[in-house]
Amino acid sequence: METADVVIVGAGVTGCTLALALAQAGLKPLLLERGAAQTAFPNAPQPRTTALNTETISYLESLGLWEALKPHAAPIDRIHVQQLGKKTTLQFDTPEGSKHPMGVIVDNGVLRTLTHQAVSAALPFWSEATLSSIEADAAGVTLQTADGRSVRAPLVVAADGRQSVLSAHFGLIPERYDYKQSALVAIIEHSEPHHNVAYELFAGDGPIALLPLLGNRSALVWNEETSRAEALFALPEPWFCESVQRATNHVVGTVRLVSKRELHPLVQLLLPRITAPRFAAIGDAAHRIHPLAGQGLNLGMRDVQALVDVVLEAARVGGDIGSAVVLERYAARRTLDIRSMAGATFSLNALFRSTNPVVKAGIQLGLGAFARLPKQRRCLPATPWGKARLRGSRPRAFNKMGVISTGSRSAAGAERSPLGLREISPLRKTWRFCSGRDDDLNYY
Ligand SMILES: Cc1cc2nc3c(=O)[nH]c(=O)nc-3n(C[C@H](O)[C@H](O)[C@H](O)COP(=O)(O)OP(=O)(O)OC[C@H]3O[C@@H](n4cnc5c(N)ncnc54)[C@H](O)[C@@H]3O)c2cc1C
Repeated sequence: METADVVIVGAGVTGCTLALALAQAGLKPLLLERGAAQTAFPNAPQPRTTALNTETISYLESLGLWEALKPHAAPIDRIHVQQLGKKTTLQFDTPEGSKHPMGVIVDNGVLRTLTHQAVSAALPFWSEATLSSIEADAAGVTLQTADGRSVRAPLVVAADGRQSVLSAHFGLIPERYDYKQSALVAIIEHSEPHHNVAYELFAGDGPIALLPLLGNRSALVWNEETSRAEALFALPEPWFCESVQRATNHVVGTVRLVSKRELHPLVQLLLPRITAPRFAAIGDAAHRIHPLAGQGLNLGMRDVQALVDVVLEAARVGGDIGSAVVLERYAARRTLDIRSMAGATFSLNALFRSTNPVVKAGIQLGLGAFARLPKQRRCLPATPWGKARLRGSRPRAFNKMGVISTGSRSAAGAERSPLGLREISPLRKTWRFCSGRDDDLNYY
């Protein structure tokens, strides 16, 4: 039987980065994955992409993963939020002097390939391994695979995504909320440049996100009631493209599909607790949230950082890294952030999908009020897209104040815009830009 300091089940991005961080710190993790190791880049664009925020980028950089990922990552220099058909918009720009853009979009296949290559080179990685038994006792956990291998460790980590078999084995069944929506994702090529702008468009349909990729391409994430999403999914390609153009108000011109379409049912899953004796859950195994703010993986990466911190603290003093004290510290650091983010995405979705005219008017009033505030007073708490970093157990969302800029700015502001009004011709009557270059801007 093999021994390890930590066994991590699931080689998604959270499992791989946790394993790498622990290995680089001198511990002996073992990573176990039911699928095949992905060692070569996919030869076609994957329909799924992921937006990584600055904090995740910095963490990947600290693990030595960013250099390889950077050439494949498309920067987001601006986020543009608008309720279509309405005048007022919100915009969030990369702060001047920032080392990284406020976020990047990467192809999920590329991300998986690079992380799998890194773990394969650095630590024991059991791919195509089917778990056949898990036995926990007071001192540790023993796991066996169907092909007869076994490993024992003082701590086992579930990084096996939604429907986590491992969490269920430790008696943790997630609280479940079915949004009755699905995300239709695809990669599109378009006639107009995106200028590194990520569009978050709220309409009767949607919300729809267009996330910039390298070249004249964007990732489409169209959240819809499931029956309507299925109907869109089934449309012949030209009709589908026409629907995208109309629903996005032609913001990137004419579009064509360059990947398959995929449908992802949207369900919120939250474990009642993220630890059990000798067990911790990270990433989607602990929480699956609505993707409308593109924060699921970023949230999972904060789990990774917190777990690495508490495990290394214990290891440094020769302590038991899977002890109840260590696991309590991990849960204490993560629970509020997880619950806050799940609540925020839930509320945002409910707010923007509301058909209640009072709520709709309220949204416009709210956006309009921000638009009319003097720039110095347009403050919102910084969020995972901003520069704020969570220290200790305080919720990230309330850690630091940032300034947002909005679309209802003066013509002088528009002249200073790096985009310029003419570059967004289909929407130029309603969308106005400010410079954003002299702001300390954060995304809410
Ligand atoms: C449409 C959509 C768009 C999204 N966009 C964004 C975004 O822009 N930004 C963002 O931050 N998040 C986004 N998310 C969320 C993000 O995709 C997830 O949070 C993230 O992939 C979770 O990573 P993970 O490593 O925790 O789990 P996963 O990526 O699900 O990885 C789990 C791994 O465990 C393996 N596994 C499962 N069961 C077992 C088992 N029994 N034994 C061994 N291995 C097992 C799987 O094969 C897999 O490799 C989006 C989600 C959706 C649905």
